[in-house]
Amino acid sequence: MSEMKHNWTKEDVLAIYNRPLMDLLFDAATIHREHHDPNTVQVSTLLSIKTGGCPEDCGYCPQAARYHTDIEGNDLMSVQHVKAQALRAKSSGSSRVCMGAAWRNVKDGEEFDQVLEMVRTINKLDMEVCCTLGMITENQAQRLAEAGLYAYNHNLDSSEEYYKEVISTRGYEDRLETIDNVRKTNVTVCSGGIIGMGEKPEDRAGMLVALATLNPQPESVPINALVAVEGTPLEDQTPVSIWDMVRMVATTRIVMPETQVRLSAGRTEMSREGQAMCFFAGANSIFAGDKLLTTPNPDVGEDMEMFKLLGLNPQKPFVKKSQPETVEANDSQYEALGEKPKWTRPEHKIERNEDAKQKAKVLR
Ligand code: SF4
Repeated sequence: MSEMKHNWTKEDVLAIYNRPLMDLLFDAATIHREHHDPNTVQVSTLLSIKTGGCPEDCGYCPQAARYHTDIEGNDLMSVQHVKAQALRAKSSGSSRVCMGAAWRNVKDGEEFDQVLEMVRTINKLDMEVCCTLGMITENQAQRLAEAGLYAYNHNLDSSEEYYKEVISTRGYEDRLETIDNVRKTNVTVCSGGIIGMGEKPEDRAGMLVALATLNPQPESVPINALVAVEGTPLEDQTPVSIWDMVRMVATTRIVMPETQVRLSAGRTEMSREGQAMCFFAGANSIFAGDKLLTTPNPDVGEDMEMFKLLGLNPQKPFVKKSQPETVEANDSQYEALGEKPKWTRPEHKIERNEDAKQKAKVLR
């Protein structure tokens, strides 16, 4: 059994990433088989529970209010609507629901209470519940844990150095602080990033070092290929090649052997052969449904056909960790503190983000 290592350096990880592909694939597949069932892949469903109008300036994101994209914004979904979607996802093979809200950070109040109720509702359907709601405090993480949250997603996106080329409205340390707040609870951590934003292999290695040196390592690491959306600052980015995606998945698997590696955005551009190579290299989760928050994703029927072709089985929920208990709102030990933490606002200028903002003003 390969050992869990926490002192990875960028040089170590880059050397793995750049190995001859056959060696890289063989080692990644061997480690994958030591720690996971290679014929089981988790199917997760991503629901955008509050879409658009986000105050942040993430250069890849069509939900940022400052850019001009054609996504339709929506206020927070009702609990009933979320429950109906979760039931539909469950009946088509999903064992996990991830709810995303386009917020900078969570604010105590009615909307957060509504999200807590969504968490209780989905946990009672015996599905893993994950939320991605922006930055959160320890108290908010505890309240989510008490409601029955299984995982909290907060991506590092890229290396600390390249992060500054993509986002100016918050710092890398804020991301790490939110992950740390989640770690103080029994909620598992989901954190990964995006490739194809113009970063170098060194940045990909840098992001993996930031994740793999956390102790414990994140239980879940999504690897996304950028989906370049018109109107965002990264609209002209060249699509990432499947070879880069396979290398990234394999390297993630080697440096984080026990983690669930999630093949996330960008699958519509990948052939079945390409996806099969990613599964062989250690990816063991996909997102189902024809939309991934706001960008296109393969239809669930097509995915099930691919599973049949490859002899893959959807993973059952709570394989890695037992189901959390749900505490009802009336029995809660935690109250809303109404904290106003000082998340940083570096406010350095990113030229292409500024240009996209100016272009949006003209178009509107
Ligand atoms: S990625 Fe999240 S935080 Fe960034 S602009 Fe999009 S919705 Fe907002």
